[in-house]
Amino acid sequence: MNYIKITLKPGKEQSLQRFHPWVFSGAIKRIDGTPDEGEVVEVFSSDGLFLGIGHYHSGSITVRILSFKQEPINDDFWSIKLRDALNHRKALGLYPSTTTNIFRLVHGEGDNLPGLIVDIYGDTAVVQCHSIGMYLVRDIIAKTILKIFEGYIKSVYDKSSGTLPLREKFNPTDGFIAGEGHLSSMLLEYGNKFDISWDEGQKTGFFIDQRENRRLVQEYSKGKTVLNTFGYTGGFSVFALQGGATEVTTVDSSEKAIFLSKKNVAANFENGSNHKAFAVDAFEYLRTTKDTYDLIILDPPAFAKHRDALKNALQAYKRLNLAAIYKLNPGGILFTFSCSQVVNRTDFRNAVFSACAISGREASILHQLTQPADHPINIYHPEGEYLKGLVIRVK
Ligand code: SAH
Repeated sequence: MNYIKITLKPGKEQSLQRFHPWVFSGAIKRIDGTPDEGEVVEVFSSDGLFLGIGHYHSGSITVRILSFKQEPINDDFWSIKLRDALNHRKALGLYPSTTTNIFRLVHGEGDNLPGLIVDIYGDTAVVQCHSIGMYLVRDIIAKTILKIFEGYIKSVYDKSSGTLPLREKFNPTDGFIAGEGHLSSMLLEYGNKFDISWDEGQKTGFFIDQRENRRLVQEYSKGKTVLNTFGYTGGFSVFALQGGATEVTTVDSSEKAIFLSKKNVAANFENGSNHKAFAVDAFEYLRTTKDTYDLIILDPPAFAKHRDALKNALQAYKRLNLAAIYKLNPGGILFTFSCSQVVNRTDFRNAVFSACAISGREASILHQLTQPADHPINIYHPEGEYLKGLVIRVK
């Protein structure tokens, strides 16, 4: 196979030699030809050394590397890569499992497949492409997924309409791309049931990345009153009730989310009378409620999507955490998260530190949380670390 060659400027080969999977436009000296969007290209150093092969894009990240070996990107390549991702999830006990059937099969750069997300919801795989290169091979990816699961996965759904670049040009629409084309809805996480409308929900439908943190909330919930803010599908609320919370309140600004949280509580507990749910702004709720709680969860959407929004985001984290600390009973537990990729662990901890300091209460960190092992972080691509959490005990 003859791939178009891209040659880098002198000295620009180092990050690829350290397995960082992106080539920025500024590092490029020459392109031998005019690659199409998403075409496979080979990258060489200025003195002709092969560095990697990947998907071309006309933007600032010009190549996303698929392999650092000089190999063809063909059906075998996709089989080997996706099988490797599945073997890792098998080793984690996520598949096969009788208690959990929601997990991430492919986490972009963390699985050395930049631009591709694949989530498993029961017998359906949901593919989300963040690059044109991945979008163009989504049919091969879908067929390979059906093959490696040997009959377990029945359908593959493409949900790239919200994530694909150059949408005007490629006009992506969501829908089934392989298999029987049916929705699996009642799903399991650690034995808890979730009815997830993943075709219309946020991300690929569920915040799979909070699985282990939800489990930790369960361990802390016995005999406690719990407030779950930014609750979405009520994941944390279900786990808190499972752990023996006396009362759980879910707050989310979206009516739809509140409906989903009630539905999921009802799916697990016949008598859901100790669950209350309110469609209201979380800041507003924390400001106005007369209630105080033994355990509060803060899992807001990303406050900063870009570097220039960082300062305001840190202020927002500080305000939110302070408002929650005011509503915590003595000895109360705060589960606080940030999923903003531009907010690093130290920045986030400092924002929570400031909130604790202003509250004038003693506080200790019990756990430092992150994303689970089916959302791996490529050590050469630290940009992939986004979920940060702290569990704080406030006196
Ligand atoms: N904790 C959830 C995921 C949270 S996603 C889980 O475990 O699945 C973020 C949620 O915050 C979304 O459901 C969104 O509707 C909600 N949201 C966004 N802004 C909000 C606000 N100001 N007040 C309350 N909820 C908000």
